[in-house]
Amino acid sequence: MIGKPALPLADSRHQSRAQIAVISLALALTIFLLGTSLWPVAYRGALQISRWRLEQQLSSWPSLTSDHYIIKYRPQDEAIAPLVLTAAEKAYHLLTREANYTPPGQILVVIYPSSAELNAVFGWSAQESALGVYWGGAIQVLSPSAWIEARDSWQLGQIFWATGLMVHELSHLILDYKTAGNYPRWFSEGLAQYREQQHCQAAQSAYHDLDPALLYTLPQLEQFNQLDNEQLAYRQSLSLVEYLVAAGGPNAISTIVDSLAGGATFSQALQKIGISSPAALEQKWLAWLK
Ligand SMILES: [Zn+2]
Repeated sequence: MIGKPALPLADSRHQSRAQIAVISLALALTIFLLGTSLWPVAYRGALQISRWRLEQQLSSWPSLTSDHYIIKYRPQDEAIAPLVLTAAEKAYHLLTREANYTPPGQILVVIYPSSAELNAVFGWSAQESALGVYWGGAIQVLSPSAWIEARDSWQLGQIFWATGLMVHELSHLILDYKTAGNYPRWFSEGLAQYREQQHCQAAQSAYHDLDPALLYTLPQLEQFNQLDNEQLAYRQSLSLVEYLVAAGGPNAISTIVDSLAGGATFSQALQKIGISSPAALEQKWLAWLK
């Protein structure tokens, strides 16, 4: 997610609690009957079902398609949809190559013309100002025309890319599919911002602006959705990922993600880059910050 982010994701109007419960129960039963080795297949299947249901709900909306995407939008965003697709394709080529992973099928991106419509999907109040959300195998964004001022559509497209939104949300999607949900939330938020920094210069490094005396502990950061200071949680997450690269070298991220995709715990994945545990990561990171 990006914008004023990180709320607990309530059920949306598209997926009632009952429907989610039925899917979850079927998933749990399948895994119980077939064994845990099928977890990644079942998890990705659940993402595909969730994504497919959202697309069905929006079947009357206009769409723009490419080999990699289906973009759904309201008629007033007809001129915006190609700009979103252009940024999405650019992000796709960069991130799938980096991750050495291609998500299955066409990625669903939904463009909402207003915050009110985007917020309503997730049951959020009018005060929330999210610009984009990755959830349940799909990306949902606020139309760039609602939050970017530009003199023409070319400039709008340039600014939209530079905000890093598509890179951010696609990074979440690829990590979720590739590891079948096997990652701490802070790691996904840190990585998404790190990719923004790499490709769009959108996120500023968090190295210089964290006060070591005023930080969440790593166990606190694990409860990402419950933290009061969302901005601090995001900055710390980015800083931790920056540290992983500083300590483990340019391949540190792919080593960790590949391990998670292979079913390793996060602690085991850290060991692959020479960090013995999450507690050791926290200690080393704090020392690096000082
Ligand atoms: Zn995010």
